[in-house]
Amino acid sequence: MREEGSEDRETPPRKLSYGAQAVDQSDIDAVVEILRGDWLTQGPAVTAFEEAIREATTARYAVAFSSGTAALHAAAAAAGLGQGDVVATSALTFSASAACARYVGATPTLLDVDPETLNLDPAAVPDGLDGLVAVHYAGLPIDLAQLKNRPRVVIEDACHAFGATTPTGPVGSCEHSDMTAFSFHPVKPITTCEGGAVTTNDPVLFENLRQFRNHGIVRRPEVDPWYYEVSSLGFNYRLSDVQAALGVSQIGKLSRFIGRRNEIAATYRRGLDGSNVTLPPAAPQGWTHGYHLFAVRVPERRRVFDFLVGRGIVPQVHYVPIHHHPVYADLGFGPTDLPNVEAAYRQLLSVPMHPSLTDDDVDRVIAALTEATA
Ligand SMILES: *Cc1c(COP(=O)(O)O)cnc(C)c1O
Repeated sequence: MREEGSEDRETPPRKLSYGAQAVDQSDIDAVVEILRGDWLTQGPAVTAFEEAIREATTARYAVAFSSGTAALHAAAAAAGLGQGDVVATSALTFSASAACARYVGATPTLLDVDPETLNLDPAAVPDGLDGLVAVHYAGLPIDLAQLKNRPRVVIEDACHAFGATTPTGPVGSCEHSDMTAFSFHPVKPITTCEGGAVTTNDPVLFENLRQFRNHGIVRRPEVDPWYYEVSSLGFNYRLSDVQAALGVSQIGKLSRFIGRRNEIAATYRRGLDGSNVTLPPAAPQGWTHGYHLFAVRVPERRRVFDFLVGRGIVPQVHYVPIHHHPVYADLGFGPTDLPNVEAAYRQLLSVPMHPSLTDDDVDRVIAALTEATA
């Protein structure tokens, strides 16, 4: 016999988040295998993960880190950025893109974005900068071949763009940069729970990155078998073998993940065509969008946000601009200094985009967005 009232009791719809990891049994098995072994911290699995990152990006070197933020910090330090240096980044990014300059004592400065791509405009980078942190917003690669006024140090913040490609190679190949930083946070293209990496083609930067990750330690077995020196001020920014095993397992699925993200983007484009939702730009011919985010623009964003939440859809806003944060108030950017960033920020809404979404899930988001903006 049924419980009273059970017939009209509705199961609440599955919560759809703007981003989520896709972890399956093979990932779990890979992690458990490490836990059963005798090496948990940075070891052979990290080496294997770095090898897989090298292969995926075609860069000569890859160094794994404990987070994307650690990776950016290490890149700034490895390049010798510091006191007196001015390092620019886009104002429409996560705070870590600017924090990496501050961590090494350099001064961050902010650039406006292209109103269409929401990436900084490489042709508009001003003269006289020491460093640039170029963010591939949402996973759409910046065309760094267009970079005018190349600063001494160019770091790509590719935390959104692992698996994205340009006509000259995968993001991370460092064709037009010194180093590229990635994040493996759960909402990013692949995950190690927390984790990051830097790729480079420069052997000196490679050695600096490795030392910085491990307290600045240099081993000198020619002195004594146990002897090591701390030759610079480093950190413990190591990734564990447990996490790296997850990374190796995940990286094998990268092209499938990026393919599914592109399929979902195509479904959104068809489904939202003719609605009042402004779609993000697609990648040009010959490029692959990573689609870490699907950031649409809507009028009355707060109302649309609340409407979606009421439908079990959890959007997010990327990003509260860097200069809106109290910690960066002293950079001196006012409400009229970065007009394209301010205009985009008023309307941006990241709607669900991750490989585990079903076609029905995507249709649900399309229906809710269309109704909310009708
Ligand atoms: C996620 C992210 C970071 C930081 O990565 P963590 O792994 O979370 O430390 C840096 N920059 C951008 C653009 C990001 O999206």
